[in-house]
Amino acid sequence: MRIVLVGPPGAGKGTQATVLAETLSIPHISTGDLFRANISQGTELGRRAKAFMDAGDLVPDEITIGMAKDRMEQEDAAGGFLLDGFPRNVSQAEALDVMLKAGAMNLDAVLDLEVEEDEVVKRLAGRRTCRKDSSHIYHVDYRPSKVEGVCDIDGGELYVREDQTEEAVRNRLEVYHTQTEPIIDYYKAQGLVSTIPALGEVKDVTQRALDALKK
Ligand code: ADP
Repeated sequence: MRIVLVGPPGAGKGTQATVLAETLSIPHISTGDLFRANISQGTELGRRAKAFMDAGDLVPDEITIGMAKDRMEQEDAAGGFLLDGFPRNVSQAEALDVMLKAGAMNLDAVLDLEVEEDEVVKRLAGRRTCRKDSSHIYHVDYRPSKVEGVCDIDGGELYVREDQTEEAVRNRLEVYHTQTEPIIDYYKAQGLVSTIPALGEVKDVTQRALDALKK
């Protein structure tokens, strides 16, 4: 299956993407994680992306699209993938369509995780990320680690991501509304969108998403 996951920052996209990809046995491709990996490896791409990310702005398309394409062309993604954080604007969505078409492929579904704005702010403020592996995500209230500040899985230090300061969070929400939300209409026109209420327990949201994929 080829799936795109959309939703505002704080919708639980990363958490759901990890579980869904595992359940469906497809790779989880997160452009945010790819950028962070580039930053921690000190690559030129990472160096160029960092300032945009810290401010909560989108990294320019000429950097992002090529990176996403390279990842989707790797062997493990030949049978399908779950995209998390890409596309994030209409021109990226168009570039993805071109890419898929060139390989005679198409998307099976676009899952739109829906959450209220107030809830999103509350969620983001308490978020903690593992330094060793950024797919290990916790929340001080909703998903606390067993030992405060320490990742349950690999013992990595848990920290507040640079782009999750209050100012950056507000900007990211604004960027989501103006740039990312329009892709939902773009995909609605293709009949691909399922709206998933993202309130409640992680496993319940996952189940809603899996049910939507069966249709
Ligand atoms: P979230 O916490 O919203 O899931 P991500 O980890 O997906 O955030 O992304 C973090 C940052 O990486 C974004 O705020 C943005 O600066 C950059 N980024 C990720 N994906 C893209 C993309 N498709 N286009 C442009 N910038 C991106």
